[in-house]
Amino acid sequence: MTPPPPGVDLVVTGAELVATVDAERREIAGGWVAIEDGLVAAVGGPGDVPPDAAEVLRADGCLVTPGLINTHHHIFQNLTRSYRPAVNGTLFQWLTTLYPRWSRLDEEAAYLSAWVGLAELALGGCTTTTDHLYVHPRGTGDLIAAEITAARELGMRFHPTRGSMSLSEKDGGLPPDSVVQDDDEILADSERLVAAHHDPSWGAMVRIALAPCSPFSVTPQLMTATAELAERLDVRLHTHLAEDPDEDRYAAERFGKRTIEHFEDVGWMSDRSWVAHCIYPDPAEVGRLGAAGVGVAHCPSSNMMIGGGGIAPVADLRAAGSPVGLGCDGSASTDCASLWLEARGALLLGRMRGGPASTGARDALEIGTRGSAACLGREGELGVLEVGAAGDLVCWPLEGIPFAGALSDPVEAWLRCGPVAARHTVVAGRAVVRDGELTATGLEDVLRRHRVASERLQAD
Ligand SMILES: [Zn+2]
Repeated sequence: MTPPPPGVDLVVTGAELVATVDAERREIAGGWVAIEDGLVAAVGGPGDVPPDAAEVLRADGCLVTPGLINTHHHIFQNLTRSYRPAVNGTLFQWLTTLYPRWSRLDEEAAYLSAWVGLAELALGGCTTTTDHLYVHPRGTGDLIAAEITAARELGMRFHPTRGSMSLSEKDGGLPPDSVVQDDDEILADSERLVAAHHDPSWGAMVRIALAPCSPFSVTPQLMTATAELAERLDVRLHTHLAEDPDEDRYAAERFGKRTIEHFEDVGWMSDRSWVAHCIYPDPAEVGRLGAAGVGVAHCPSSNMMIGGGGIAPVADLRAAGSPVGLGCDGSASTDCASLWLEARGALLLGRMRGGPASTGARDALEIGTRGSAACLGREGELGVLEVGAAGDLVCWPLEGIPFAGALSDPVEAWLRCGPVAARHTVVAGRAVVRDGELTATGLEDVLRRHRVASERLQAD
């Protein structure tokens, strides 16, 4: 081990186990992690003396992992959680029920939903999240800038994506006219947001990606133009793909091909893209997605909640070469945004599809850390505890009634027992959650205002 630096910002010490998820998948009993200037400065075991630190966080009784990374979400939807008129519809039915509600979104609602959504994720052990905001009602201001303000206040690492819809009901699409925009407007605003907020540097706190809602909610021309713009600006591409069997029926009618063929034909089959869900690729399509290095945001709760009978072929996609990350997805398909819950869901669904030998807790941990980081183009930078990587970690208390008797394997116990939330969530060396509480102030006020905004969206 290289000698630790003389003084650092933060040391997390006393862990029962540090699961680094590094190249050797080192697991260090009694380990510690030191963070300086937002990056991991040293990782050590009980025989190594940690450096002096300005702040020390105790991780006694905890499993310490890299922070979990959320690769798919629609944070604004927490304004319409478990909305009764939509809860038992199919995917297409709940979308058409909720679009008129979401057309009331404004900057205040975007800020509040982001504050609540990011805080919820932090408490559940997430340190980096994307958001896919695809509703931009006319004249409502800069919704993504409002979300970024909330992320900065909380200290979360944030990858908002500039979502878009250009096909409304009159074009044979699902959304009302009031929430769609034309292609030129979408592309110009995408470029503006990248110029204003995207930080390509190592350890960046904010990055922007471009994200047409789905191949059936925008024109093929916009899909192609978005891919070209992403290439020019060197940013990533995100969309929904193969989420529901209805999608292939729609693609057959509209484009005369399967939805993944359409995805290829508009220039998205590349390692610049990561897609949400990907439940229904056929084996040949799994091979093509893997060979191209297309990332997949696996959303276990959403996969189960939407129903439809399919289970995302996660093991096959990973074997074919696709990075697979973890996503909680938005409300209605998942009204609870806990990445611990999604990691457990990935464990359970993986075994349901592939049998008991196919998926263990370490696979789920890897998906939620390294796999997610690769989806976001940040392999080696996020989702791993090694010198030079981002100082993002979670201390998970494996204590009390839920963990009594779990003595032999803290990583398996982490997902098999529980539920568990974060004791400490550290982002860039700063505690966002300490002793189970948010370190940002103002929660009560935000919740009160969030309720007012939710009532306004849900009013008849
Ligand atoms: Zn989604």
